[in-house]
Amino acid sequence: MTDVTGMTGSDAPMADYRAGVARLQRAYAAIPPGSPVRLAKRTSNLFRFRDAGPSAQLDVSAFARVLCVDPGSRTAFVGGMTTYEDLADATLRHGLMPLVVPQLKTITLGGAVTGLGIESTSLRSGMPHESVTEMEILTGDGRVVTASDTNEHAALYRGFPNSYGTLGYALALTIELEPVSPFVHLRHFRFDTPEACMEAVAQIARDGSLGGHRADFVDGTAFSLDEMYLTVGAFSDVAPWLSDYTRERVYYRSIRGPKEDFLTIGDYLWRWDTDWFWCSRPFGVQNPVIRRAWPRRYRRSDTYRKLVALDRRYRLSAALNARRGRPPHEDVIQDVEIPVERGAEFLRFFAGRVGMSPVWMCPLRLRGERTWPLYPLRPGQAYVNFGFWGTVALPPGAADGHYNRQVEDQVTALGGHKGLYSTSFYTEQEFWALYNGTEYAALKRDYDPEGRLAGLYEKCVRGK
Ligand SMILES: Cc1cc2nc3c(=O)[nH]c(=O)nc-3n(C[C@H](O)[C@H](O)[C@H](O)COP(=O)(O)OP(=O)(O)OC[C@H]3O[C@@H](n4cnc5c(N)ncnc54)[C@H](O)[C@@H]3O)c2cc1C
Repeated sequence: MTDVTGMTGSDAPMADYRAGVARLQRAYAAIPPGSPVRLAKRTSNLFRFRDAGPSAQLDVSAFARVLCVDPGSRTAFVGGMTTYEDLADATLRHGLMPLVVPQLKTITLGGAVTGLGIESTSLRSGMPHESVTEMEILTGDGRVVTASDTNEHAALYRGFPNSYGTLGYALALTIELEPVSPFVHLRHFRFDTPEACMEAVAQIARDGSLGGHRADFVDGTAFSLDEMYLTVGAFSDVAPWLSDYTRERVYYRSIRGPKEDFLTIGDYLWRWDTDWFWCSRPFGVQNPVIRRAWPRRYRRSDTYRKLVALDRRYRLSAALNARRGRPPHEDVIQDVEIPVERGAEFLRFFAGRVGMSPVWMCPLRLRGERTWPLYPLRPGQAYVNFGFWGTVALPPGAADGHYNRQVEDQVTALGGHKGLYSTSFYTEQEFWALYNGTEYAALKRDYDPEGRLAGLYEKCVRGK
Protein backbone atom coordinates (compact mmCIF):
# COMPACT_ATOMS: atom_id res chain seq x y z
CA MET A 1 0.00 0.00 0.00
CA THR A 2 1.17 3.54 -0.72
CA ASP A 3 0.63 5.97 2.12
CA VAL A 4 0.21 9.73 2.06
CA THR A 5 3.95 10.18 1.74
CA GLY A 6 4.18 8.04 -1.36
CA MET A 7 6.09 5.38 0.62
CA THR A 8 5.20 1.75 0.56
CA GLY A 9 4.05 0.28 3.86
CA SER A 10 2.23 -2.90 4.73
CA ASP A 11 -1.58 -2.64 4.48
CA ALA A 12 -2.60 -3.41 8.05
CA PRO A 13 -0.76 -0.63 9.97
CA MET A 14 -1.83 2.01 7.42
CA ALA A 15 -5.46 0.84 7.50
CA ASP A 16 -5.37 0.93 11.33
CA TYR A 17 -3.89 4.39 11.16
CA ARG A 18 -6.58 5.70 8.80
CA ALA A 19 -9.32 4.17 10.96
CA GLY A 20 -7.67 5.76 14.02
CA VAL A 21 -7.74 9.20 12.37
CA ALA A 22 -11.46 8.87 11.58
CA ARG A 23 -12.19 7.70 15.17
CA LEU A 24 -10.20 10.54 16.67
CA GLN A 25 -11.95 13.15 14.54
CA ARG A 26 -15.35 11.82 15.67
CA ALA A 27 -14.25 11.75 19.32
CA TYR A 28 -12.96 15.31 19.09
CA ALA A 29 -16.17 16.55 17.44
CA ALA A 30 -18.18 14.99 20.28
CA ILE A 31 -16.38 16.97 23.00
CA PRO A 32 -18.62 19.86 24.11
CA PRO A 33 -17.13 23.26 23.20
CA GLY A 34 -15.48 24.81 26.24
CA SER A 35 -14.37 21.47 27.76
CA PRO A 36 -10.60 21.27 28.26
CA VAL A 37 -9.00 18.62 26.02
CA ARG A 38 -6.06 16.40 26.93
CA LEU A 39 -4.13 13.54 25.30
CA ALA A 40 -4.63 10.19 27.05
CA LYS A 41 -0.94 9.17 26.95
CA ARG A 42 0.75 6.59 29.17
CA THR A 43 3.90 8.65 29.61
CA SER A 44 4.95 12.28 29.75
CA ASN A 45 8.18 14.20 30.22
CA LEU A 46 6.58 17.49 31.15
CA PHE A 47 7.64 18.98 34.47
CA ARG A 48 4.52 20.93 35.33
CA PHE A 49 2.62 19.05 38.00
CA ARG A 50 -0.18 21.52 38.76
CA ASP A 51 -3.61 19.92 38.80
CA ALA A 52 -5.37 21.16 35.71
CA GLY A 53 -8.81 19.86 36.75
CA PRO A 54 -11.18 17.62 34.77
CA SER A 55 -10.76 17.36 31.00
CA ALA A 56 -11.91 15.29 28.03
CA GLN A 57 -9.24 12.64 27.28
CA LEU A 58 -8.49 11.80 23.65
CA ASP A 59 -7.47 8.20 23.00
CA VAL A 60 -4.38 8.49 20.80
CA SER A 61 -3.13 4.89 21.06
CA ALA A 62 -3.60 4.44 17.29
CA PHE A 63 -0.74 6.89 16.70
CA ALA A 64 1.90 5.22 18.87
CA ARG A 65 3.72 3.10 16.29
CA VAL A 66 6.14 3.31 13.42
CA LEU A 67 4.10 2.93 10.24
CA CYS A 68 6.83 2.59 7.68
CA VAL A 69 10.63 2.76 7.40
CA ASP A 70 11.95 3.21 3.87
CA PRO A 71 15.70 2.47 3.77
CA GLY A 72 15.85 3.55 0.10
CA SER A 73 14.78 7.15 0.67
CA ARG A 74 16.07 7.09 4.29
CA THR A 75 12.74 8.27 5.63
CA ALA A 76 10.13 6.96 8.05
CA PHE A 77 6.41 7.59 8.46
CA VAL A 78 5.74 7.54 12.18
CA GLY A 79 2.73 7.93 14.49
CA GLY A 80 2.98 11.18 16.47
CA MET A 81 2.76 9.44 19.86
CA THR A 82 5.52 6.91 19.08
CA THR A 83 8.27 6.88 21.69
CA TYR A 84 11.83 7.38 20.54
CA GLU A 85 12.60 4.00 22.12
CA ASP A 86 10.28 2.29 19.63
CA LEU A 87 11.31 4.59 16.80
CA ALA A 88 15.05 3.96 17.30
CA ASP A 89 14.42 0.19 17.57
CA ALA A 90 12.60 0.22 14.23
CA THR A 91 15.20 2.30 12.37
CA LEU A 92 18.38 0.79 13.87
CA ARG A 93 17.23 -2.55 12.42
CA HIS A 94 17.91 -0.94 9.04
CA GLY A 95 21.21 0.66 10.13
CA LEU A 96 19.50 4.07 10.32
CA MET A 97 18.49 6.54 13.03
CA PRO A 98 16.48 9.77 13.25
CA LEU A 99 18.80 12.77 12.89
CA VAL A 100 18.20 13.75 16.53
CA VAL A 101 17.20 11.20 19.18
CA PRO A 102 16.30 12.93 22.48
CA GLN A 103 17.87 10.90 25.24
CA LEU A 104 14.82 9.94 27.34
CA LYS A 105 13.23 6.76 26.01
CA THR A 106 9.59 7.81 26.40
CA ILE A 107 9.86 11.20 24.71
CA THR A 108 7.61 10.87 21.68
CA LEU A 109 8.22 12.17 18.19
CA GLY A 110 5.22 14.53 18.37
CA GLY A 111 6.29 15.71 21.86
CA ALA A 112 9.84 16.44 20.69
CA VAL A 113 8.61 18.36 17.63
CA THR A 114 5.99 20.43 19.42
CA GLY A 115 8.10 20.73 22.60
CA LEU A 116 11.56 21.06 21.06
CA GLY A 117 13.86 18.11 21.68
CA ILE A 118 17.62 18.27 21.55
CA GLU A 119 20.57 15.89 21.74
CA SER A 120 24.23 15.50 21.02
CA THR A 121 23.74 15.51 17.22
CA SER A 122 22.07 18.94 17.45
CA LEU A 123 25.20 20.89 16.54
CA ARG A 124 25.29 18.91 13.30
CA SER A 125 21.60 18.28 12.64
CA GLY A 126 19.65 20.94 14.54
CA MET A 127 16.43 20.07 16.34
CA PRO A 128 13.99 17.19 15.68
CA HIS A 129 11.47 19.37 13.81
CA GLU A 130 14.10 20.32 11.22
CA SER A 131 14.16 16.77 9.84
CA VAL A 132 10.37 16.50 9.60
CA THR A 133 9.24 16.88 6.00
CA GLU A 134 5.49 16.55 6.53
CA MET A 135 2.99 16.24 9.38
CA GLU A 136 -0.64 15.16 9.59
CA ILE A 137 -2.20 17.33 12.25
CA LEU A 138 -5.60 17.30 13.97
CA THR A 139 -6.09 21.04 14.28
CA GLY A 140 -7.93 22.82 17.08
CA ASP A 141 -10.91 23.38 14.78
CA GLY A 142 -11.22 19.62 14.16
CA ARG A 143 -9.77 19.33 10.65
CA VAL A 144 -7.01 16.87 9.76
CA VAL A 145 -4.49 18.64 7.53
CA THR A 146 -1.15 17.70 6.02
CA ALA A 147 1.37 20.47 6.66
CA SER A 148 4.71 20.83 4.90
CA ASP A 149 7.12 23.66 4.22
CA THR A 150 5.74 24.16 0.72
CA ASN A 151 1.97 23.62 0.85
CA GLU A 152 -0.98 25.79 1.92
CA HIS A 153 -0.37 24.84 5.57
CA ALA A 154 3.29 25.94 5.57
CA ALA A 155 2.59 28.52 8.30
CA LEU A 156 1.31 25.74 10.58
CA TYR A 157 4.32 23.54 9.72
CA ARG A 158 6.68 26.37 10.73
CA GLY A 159 4.69 27.46 13.77
CA PHE A 160 4.15 23.97 15.17
CA PRO A 161 7.53 23.69 16.97
CA ASN A 162 7.12 25.20 20.46
CA SER A 163 3.31 25.27 20.20
CA TYR A 164 2.96 22.44 22.80
CA GLY A 165 -0.25 21.00 21.43
CA THR A 166 -2.09 24.34 21.50
CA LEU A 167 -2.66 24.54 17.72
CA GLY A 168 -3.29 20.84 17.16
CA TYR A 169 -1.89 17.35 17.61
CA ALA A 170 0.60 15.70 15.24
CA LEU A 171 -0.88 12.32 14.32
CA ALA A 172 1.85 11.15 11.94
CA LEU A 173 5.10 12.63 10.71
CA THR A 174 7.48 11.88 7.86
CA ILE A 175 11.06 12.21 9.04
CA GLU A 176 14.51 11.92 7.53
CA LEU A 177 16.94 9.27 8.78
CA GLU A 178 20.71 8.93 8.65
CA PRO A 179 22.97 5.87 8.45
CA VAL A 180 24.78 4.77 11.62
CA SER A 181 27.85 2.71 12.43
CA PRO A 182 27.50 -0.04 15.04
CA PHE A 183 29.62 1.74 17.69
CA VAL A 184 30.36 5.20 19.06
CA HIS A 185 33.93 6.05 20.10
CA LEU A 186 33.82 8.64 22.91
CA ARG A 187 36.51 10.99 24.14
CA HIS A 188 36.03 13.12 27.24
CA PHE A 189 37.95 16.44 27.13
CA ARG A 190 38.44 18.27 30.43
CA PHE A 191 38.41 22.08 30.87
CA ASP A 192 39.16 24.08 33.98
CA THR A 193 37.34 27.30 33.07
CA PRO A 194 33.93 27.94 31.45
CA GLU A 195 35.65 30.24 28.95
CA ALA A 196 37.98 27.48 27.71
CA CYS A 197 35.06 25.04 27.49
CA MET A 198 32.88 27.44 25.46
CA GLU A 199 35.82 28.28 23.17
CA ALA A 200 36.17 24.54 22.48
CA VAL A 201 32.44 24.35 21.62
CA ALA A 202 32.89 27.25 19.18
CA GLN A 203 35.87 25.44 17.66
CA ILE A 204 33.87 22.23 17.18
CA ALA A 205 31.11 24.30 15.56
CA ARG A 206 33.72 25.63 13.11
CA ASP A 207 35.80 22.48 12.47
CA GLY A 208 33.51 19.52 13.20
CA SER A 209 36.16 17.93 15.43
CA LEU A 210 38.18 18.44 18.61
CA GLY A 211 41.75 17.26 19.17
CA GLY A 212 41.55 15.29 15.92
CA HIS A 213 38.41 13.41 17.06
CA ARG A 214 35.42 13.73 14.69
CA ALA A 215 32.36 15.26 16.37
CA ASP A 216 29.43 13.21 15.09
CA PHE A 217 28.06 13.72 18.60
CA VAL A 218 28.94 16.33 21.22
CA ASP A 219 27.61 17.17 24.65
CA GLY A 220 29.15 18.15 27.96
CA THR A 221 28.90 17.99 31.73
CA ALA A 222 29.88 20.76 34.16
CA PHE A 223 30.62 19.41 37.63
CA SER A 224 31.94 22.79 38.81
CA LEU A 225 33.45 25.93 37.28
CA ASP A 226 36.87 24.27 37.28
CA GLU A 227 35.82 20.77 36.25
CA MET A 228 33.91 20.62 32.99
CA TYR A 229 33.97 18.05 30.20
CA LEU A 230 33.00 17.94 26.56
CA THR A 231 32.24 14.43 25.36
CA VAL A 232 32.91 14.06 21.66
CA GLY A 233 31.62 10.93 19.91
CA ALA A 234 32.58 9.55 16.50
CA PHE A 235 30.76 6.76 14.68
CA SER A 236 33.01 3.69 14.57
CA ASP A 237 32.92 0.31 12.86
CA VAL A 238 35.21 -1.21 15.47
CA ALA A 239 35.28 -1.24 19.27
CA PRO A 240 38.27 -2.65 21.16
CA TRP A 241 36.02 -2.87 24.24
CA LEU A 242 32.44 -1.95 25.12
CA SER A 243 31.03 -0.31 28.25
CA ASP A 244 27.51 -0.95 29.54
CA TYR A 245 26.05 1.62 31.94
CA THR A 246 22.74 -0.16 32.42
CA ARG A 247 24.52 -2.43 34.94
CA GLU A 248 26.73 -1.52 37.95
CA ARG A 249 28.46 1.57 36.57
CA VAL A 250 26.80 4.97 36.15
CA TYR A 251 27.41 6.83 32.89
CA TYR A 252 27.85 10.39 34.19
CA ARG A 253 30.54 9.25 36.63
CA SER A 254 32.47 7.61 33.78
CA ILE A 255 32.97 11.03 32.17
CA ARG A 256 35.60 11.91 34.80
CA GLY A 257 37.83 9.09 33.51
CA PRO A 258 39.17 7.16 31.73
CA LYS A 259 39.30 9.62 28.82
CA GLU A 260 38.17 7.19 26.16
CA ASP A 261 35.18 4.86 25.89
CA PHE A 262 33.19 2.75 23.41
CA LEU A 263 29.44 2.07 23.37
CA THR A 264 27.14 0.33 20.93
CA ILE A 265 25.03 2.89 19.06
CA GLY A 266 21.93 1.71 20.98
CA ASP A 267 23.66 2.07 24.37
CA TYR A 268 24.99 5.45 23.31
CA LEU A 269 21.51 6.78 22.41
CA TRP A 270 20.17 5.75 25.83
CA ARG A 271 23.30 6.47 27.91
CA TRP A 272 21.46 9.16 29.88
CA ASP A 273 18.15 7.34 30.30
CA THR A 274 19.28 4.63 32.74
CA ASP A 275 19.99 7.19 35.47
CA TRP A 276 17.87 10.07 34.10
CA PHE A 277 21.16 11.92 33.62
CA TRP A 278 22.16 11.98 37.34
CA CYS A 279 18.61 12.46 38.69
CA SER A 280 18.26 8.81 39.85
CA ARG A 281 20.53 9.76 42.79
CA PRO A 282 17.74 10.66 45.32
CA PHE A 283 16.15 7.23 44.81
CA GLY A 284 19.35 5.50 45.90
CA VAL A 285 19.83 3.81 42.51
CA GLN A 286 23.45 4.95 42.39
CA ASN A 287 24.24 3.21 45.68
CA PRO A 288 25.79 -0.15 44.63
CA VAL A 289 23.65 -2.22 47.04
CA ILE A 290 20.36 -0.60 46.05
CA ARG A 291 21.38 -0.63 42.38
CA ARG A 292 21.84 -4.41 42.44
CA ALA A 293 18.43 -4.86 44.09
CA TRP A 294 16.63 -2.39 41.75
CA PRO A 295 15.45 -4.48 38.75
CA ARG A 296 17.33 -3.49 35.61
CA ARG A 297 14.12 -3.05 33.62
CA TYR A 298 13.09 -0.29 36.06
CA ARG A 299 16.36 1.63 35.78
CA ARG A 300 14.73 4.03 33.34
CA SER A 301 13.77 7.69 33.26
CA ASP A 302 10.01 6.99 33.10
CA THR A 303 10.15 4.99 36.36
CA TYR A 304 11.87 7.87 38.19
CA ARG A 305 9.48 10.44 36.70
CA LYS A 306 6.49 8.45 37.94
CA LEU A 307 8.04 8.42 41.43
CA VAL A 308 8.54 12.19 41.27
CA ALA A 309 4.91 12.66 40.11
CA LEU A 310 3.69 10.63 43.12
CA ASP A 311 5.87 12.68 45.43
CA ARG A 312 4.45 15.93 44.03
CA ARG A 313 0.88 14.70 44.18
CA TYR A 314 1.10 13.67 47.85
CA ARG A 315 3.64 16.38 48.80
CA LEU A 316 5.83 13.77 50.54
CA SER A 317 9.23 15.49 50.42
CA ALA A 318 7.67 18.88 51.18
CA ALA A 319 6.07 17.40 54.33
CA LEU A 320 9.30 15.64 55.31
CA ASN A 321 11.32 18.83 54.84
CA ALA A 322 8.85 20.78 56.99
CA ARG A 323 8.98 18.13 59.76
CA ARG A 324 12.76 18.28 59.81
CA GLY A 325 12.62 22.07 60.05
CA ARG A 326 14.24 22.50 56.60
CA PRO A 327 13.31 25.49 54.46
CA PRO A 328 10.94 24.98 51.52
CA HIS A 329 12.66 24.15 48.23
CA GLU A 330 11.99 25.47 44.74
CA ASP A 331 12.12 23.23 41.65
CA VAL A 332 14.74 24.58 39.29
CA ILE A 333 14.18 22.27 36.33
CA GLN A 334 14.94 23.96 33.03
CA ASP A 335 16.69 23.76 29.70
CA VAL A 336 17.91 27.08 28.31
CA GLU A 337 19.72 28.00 25.08
CA ILE A 338 22.47 30.62 25.24
CA PRO A 339 24.64 31.87 22.34
CA VAL A 340 28.01 30.13 22.76
CA GLU A 341 29.83 33.48 23.13
CA ARG A 342 27.78 34.20 26.29
CA GLY A 343 27.80 30.62 27.64
CA ALA A 344 30.63 31.19 30.15
CA GLU A 345 28.75 34.18 31.62
CA PHE A 346 25.70 32.00 32.09
CA LEU A 347 27.69 29.27 33.83
CA ARG A 348 29.27 31.78 36.20
CA PHE A 349 25.88 33.38 36.95
CA PHE A 350 24.31 29.96 37.54
CA ALA A 351 27.08 28.73 39.87
CA GLY A 352 26.91 31.96 41.89
CA ARG A 353 23.12 32.40 42.15
CA VAL A 354 21.67 28.88 41.97
CA GLY A 355 24.65 26.66 42.71
CA MET A 356 23.29 23.36 41.41
CA SER A 357 25.50 20.73 39.78
CA PRO A 358 26.09 18.92 37.52
CA VAL A 359 24.81 20.97 34.58
CA TRP A 360 24.30 19.33 31.17
CA MET A 361 25.67 21.23 28.17
CA CYS A 362 24.49 20.43 24.67
CA PRO A 363 25.63 22.55 21.73
CA LEU A 364 23.16 23.14 18.92
CA ARG A 365 22.75 25.13 15.74
CA LEU A 366 19.87 25.37 13.30
CA ARG A 367 20.36 22.82 10.56
CA GLY A 368 19.59 25.23 7.75
CA GLU A 369 18.55 28.78 6.98
CA ARG A 370 14.86 28.21 7.77
CA THR A 371 13.73 29.92 10.99
CA TRP A 372 10.91 28.76 13.26
CA PRO A 373 8.74 31.66 14.40
CA LEU A 374 7.72 30.47 17.88
CA TYR A 375 11.30 29.69 18.92
CA PRO A 376 13.48 32.26 17.21
CA LEU A 377 17.02 30.84 17.02
CA ARG A 378 19.32 32.61 14.54
CA PRO A 379 20.63 30.63 11.53
CA GLY A 380 24.38 30.03 11.69
CA GLN A 381 24.61 30.93 15.39
CA ALA A 382 25.92 28.18 17.72
CA TYR A 383 24.08 27.95 21.05
CA VAL A 384 24.65 25.83 24.13
CA ASN A 385 21.67 24.25 25.83
CA PHE A 386 22.23 24.17 29.59
CA GLY A 387 20.04 21.63 31.40
CA PHE A 388 19.63 21.59 35.18
CA TRP A 389 17.11 19.53 37.05
CA GLY A 390 16.83 19.73 40.84
CA THR A 391 15.54 21.66 43.83
CA VAL A 392 17.18 24.49 45.77
CA ALA A 393 16.46 25.68 49.32
CA LEU A 394 14.67 29.05 49.35
CA PRO A 395 16.17 31.85 51.44
CA PRO A 396 13.98 33.10 54.33
CA GLY A 397 11.01 35.11 53.07
CA ALA A 398 11.47 34.11 49.42
CA ALA A 399 8.63 32.49 47.47
CA ASP A 400 8.45 29.98 44.62
CA GLY A 401 9.90 31.60 41.49
CA HIS A 402 12.80 33.20 43.37
CA TYR A 403 15.45 31.27 41.41
CA ASN A 404 13.49 30.63 38.23
CA ARG A 405 12.80 34.34 37.74
CA GLN A 406 16.52 35.09 38.01
CA VAL A 407 17.27 32.38 35.45
CA GLU A 408 14.60 33.77 33.08
CA ASP A 409 15.98 37.31 33.39
CA GLN A 410 19.55 36.19 32.82
CA VAL A 411 18.62 34.06 29.80
CA THR A 412 16.89 37.07 28.21
CA ALA A 413 19.79 39.39 29.07
CA LEU A 414 22.23 37.00 27.35
CA GLY A 415 20.13 36.76 24.18
CA GLY A 416 18.96 33.21 24.91
CA HIS A 417 15.68 31.29 25.11
CA LYS A 418 14.09 28.92 27.56
CA GLY A 419 12.27 25.67 26.79
CA LEU A 420 8.68 25.55 28.04
CA TYR A 421 8.33 21.95 29.28
CA SER A 422 8.69 23.04 32.92
CA THR A 423 7.58 25.95 35.10
CA SER A 424 7.70 29.53 33.79
CA PHE A 425 7.08 32.84 35.52
CA TYR A 426 7.05 35.37 32.67
CA THR A 427 4.46 38.12 32.55
CA GLU A 428 2.18 37.81 29.55
CA GLN A 429 3.85 40.77 27.87
CA GLU A 430 7.38 39.37 28.30
CA PHE A 431 6.24 35.95 27.15
CA TRP A 432 4.73 37.12 23.88
CA ALA A 433 7.72 39.34 23.15
CA LEU A 434 9.99 36.28 23.50
CA TYR A 435 7.81 33.70 21.73
CA ASN A 436 6.37 35.75 18.85
CA GLY A 437 2.87 36.56 20.03
CA THR A 438 1.90 38.11 16.70
CA GLU A 439 2.61 34.99 14.66
CA TYR A 440 1.04 32.78 17.32
CA ALA A 441 -2.17 34.83 17.37
CA ALA A 442 -2.46 34.50 13.56
CA LEU A 443 -1.98 30.71 13.76
CA LYS A 444 -4.48 30.39 16.58
CA ARG A 445 -7.01 32.38 14.54
CA ASP A 446 -6.48 30.14 11.49
CA TYR A 447 -6.36 26.73 13.18
CA ASP A 448 -8.24 27.06 16.47
CA PRO A 449 -10.51 30.13 16.14
CA GLU A 450 -12.86 29.01 18.92
CA GLY A 451 -9.98 28.35 21.33
CA ARG A 452 -10.91 24.71 21.90
CA LEU A 453 -7.29 24.00 22.88
CA ALA A 454 -5.63 26.01 25.67
CA GLY A 455 -3.49 28.98 24.59
CA LEU A 456 0.30 28.74 24.85
CA TYR A 457 0.61 31.22 27.73
CA GLU A 458 -2.27 29.63 29.67
CA LYS A 459 -0.72 26.19 29.23
CA CYS A 460 2.96 26.90 29.79
CA VAL A 461 2.87 29.66 32.37
CA ARG A 462 -0.51 29.41 34.05
CA GLY A 463 -0.34 25.59 34.00
CA LYS A 464 -3.66 24.80 32.32
C1 LIG B 1 14.55 16.16 33.40
C2 LIG B 1 14.22 16.46 31.97
C3 LIG B 1 15.22 16.44 31.03
C4 LIG B 1 14.92 16.68 29.71
N1 LIG B 1 15.90 16.59 28.85
C5 LIG B 1 15.64 16.66 27.59
C6 LIG B 1 16.66 16.46 26.67
O1 LIG B 1 17.79 16.29 27.05
N2 LIG B 1 16.39 16.46 25.38
C7 LIG B 1 15.13 16.68 24.95
O2 LIG B 1 14.91 16.62 23.77
N3 LIG B 1 14.14 16.97 25.79
C8 LIG B 1 14.36 16.94 27.09
N4 LIG B 1 13.36 17.19 27.95
C9 LIG B 1 12.08 17.79 27.48
C10 LIG B 1 11.18 16.95 26.63
O3 LIG B 1 11.71 16.75 25.35
C11 LIG B 1 9.89 17.71 26.41
O4 LIG B 1 9.26 17.82 27.66
C12 LIG B 1 8.98 17.02 25.39
O5 LIG B 1 7.93 17.90 25.02
C13 LIG B 1 8.40 15.78 26.01
O6 LIG B 1 7.73 15.05 25.04
P1 LIG B 1 6.71 13.89 25.41
O7 LIG B 1 6.59 13.13 24.18
O8 LIG B 1 7.06 13.16 26.65
O9 LIG B 1 5.37 14.72 25.55
P2 LIG B 1 4.41 14.99 26.75
O10 LIG B 1 5.19 15.24 28.00
O11 LIG B 1 3.38 13.95 26.78
O12 LIG B 1 3.73 16.33 26.24
C14 LIG B 1 4.48 17.52 26.11
C15 LIG B 1 3.59 18.58 25.50
O13 LIG B 1 3.47 18.32 24.12
C16 LIG B 1 2.12 18.12 23.74
N5 LIG B 1 2.13 17.00 22.82
C17 LIG B 1 2.51 15.71 23.07
N6 LIG B 1 2.41 14.97 21.96
C18 LIG B 1 1.97 15.81 20.98
C19 LIG B 1 1.68 15.65 19.61
N7 LIG B 1 1.78 14.48 18.99
N8 LIG B 1 1.26 16.74 18.91
C20 LIG B 1 1.14 17.95 19.50
N9 LIG B 1 1.38 18.14 20.80
C21 LIG B 1 1.79 17.10 21.53
C22 LIG B 1 1.35 17.84 25.00
O14 LIG B 1 0.03 18.34 24.90
C23 LIG B 1 2.17 18.63 26.03
O15 LIG B 1 1.80 19.97 26.08
C24 LIG B 1 13.61 16.99 29.30
C25 LIG B 1 12.59 17.02 30.24
C26 LIG B 1 12.90 16.76 31.56
C27 LIG B 1 11.79 16.79 32.55
